[in-house]
Amino acid sequence: MTASAASPLVRFAPSPTGYLHIGNARPALFNWLFARRHGGHFLLRYDDTDLARSKPEYADAIAEDLGWLGIQPDEMIKQSERLAIYDAAADRLRAAGRLYACYETADELERRRKRQLARGLPPIYDRAALKLTAEEKAALEAEGRRPHWRFLLAAREIAWADLVRGPSHVDCASLSDPVLVREDGSYLYTLPSVVDDIETGVTHVIRGEDHVTNTAVQAQIFEALGAALPAFGHHNLLTTASGEGLSKRLGHLSLRGLRESGVEALAVAALATMVGTSDAVRPVASLDELAGLVELAHVSRAPAKFDEHELEALSARTLHQLPYAVVAERLAALGVAGAEPFWLAVRGNLAKLSEAKEWWQVVAGPVDPAIADPGFIGQAAALLPPEPFDATSWKSWTQAVSAATGAKGKALFMPLRQALTGLDHGPELAALLPLIGREKALKRLAGEKA
Ligand code: GLU
Repeated sequence: MTASAASPLVRFAPSPTGYLHIGNARPALFNWLFARRHGGHFLLRYDDTDLARSKPEYADAIAEDLGWLGIQPDEMIKQSERLAIYDAAADRLRAAGRLYACYETADELERRRKRQLARGLPPIYDRAALKLTAEEKAALEAEGRRPHWRFLLAAREIAWADLVRGPSHVDCASLSDPVLVREDGSYLYTLPSVVDDIETGVTHVIRGEDHVTNTAVQAQIFEALGAALPAFGHHNLLTTASGEGLSKRLGHLSLRGLRESGVEALAVAALATMVGTSDAVRPVASLDELAGLVELAHVSRAPAKFDEHELEALSARTLHQLPYAVVAERLAALGVAGAEPFWLAVRGNLAKLSEAKEWWQVVAGPVDPAIADPGFIGQAAALLPPEPFDATSWKSWTQAVSAATGAKGKALFMPLRQALTGLDHGPELAALLPLIGREKALKRLAGEKA
């Protein structure tokens, strides 16, 4: 897939080693919304070079959870199927003298690190392996050692105009040469990501600020491979309200956990991308609406604090304003009929969509009427206007009942509500009465289960 200058290509690159949670849904959403807003494309890339930890079922779950959020990737690739491309890139780096073989064991490196720290030196890899002669390398290999491969960083500052953080820079002189290839020949994330970004034509890399240092390193790899840099944006990370990082183990904050608990996907998307920004978190009716609101430059430098109660409240507020068309299929799946008038009548009373079923039961029946004063309800029944009912029927009826009985306010409305719905709370009766209809209303007013 190649992106023209006018049409950006972004990617979301999860490792399929677990379920997506609200924290890692953020880069997915920031990228998706960016693509929507700028008429671009979205690539889903599975960073699955860690064969031991990556699982196909997690890859499937990620696609499903993105689908729940409303993200439909334009294309999907898997790094595990692209190893030959990385091998070719690694060979080019070797030929250019930028990828060098190292033989230290983890223990040796750790001892060296401790010595550096003890001497007050920064614990940067000392490049001892660069000085190995061909004979020394051969001797090490004869001992059974296999090399891992480090990228030779140029000791200079890398600067870029970050889409979120503005002018940014990292001094690579303070970094260790990163290991790109493990002893067993497998790749760490760093090189395949660059190779794929080049090969697929990614124009904008939008990811968490835990990748800022990677960006400096990867910028050097882009250059070493002769490729132009994409634009970079690093968003703040999500923490709990008390400031701790969210871990994958927080199962109930996984997208599937949230979905099962009845939280609206649109609320998750809105909170995930508006919390920790200079904009107020607000409900939206579609991802396209959200795409028009979210500005990467408004994402703050401070961490974004996640509060489950805020999500629940936003989910309810989201439902309260959702147009019928957005929920029609889900209502049908719940066995709720009544179409738009029913939805408009009840949406304001819902904390979760599934509660619509309970209100549908109140409309469709059977309902056990609660009647404390049969005389009063009998008088009211006699005054029920003829059909057709409309939005004004409730008002004209209750005015007539009030005039005949002298009842006002709660003494007027509560007995009618209890008789018609069996409950003492609920959506506006002005909207419910036409849905219940005259025949059922009369039965309920007569104390019949209907
Ligand atoms: N697989 C990396 C991660 O999940 C991707 C980071 C990136 O977007 O480059 O952190």
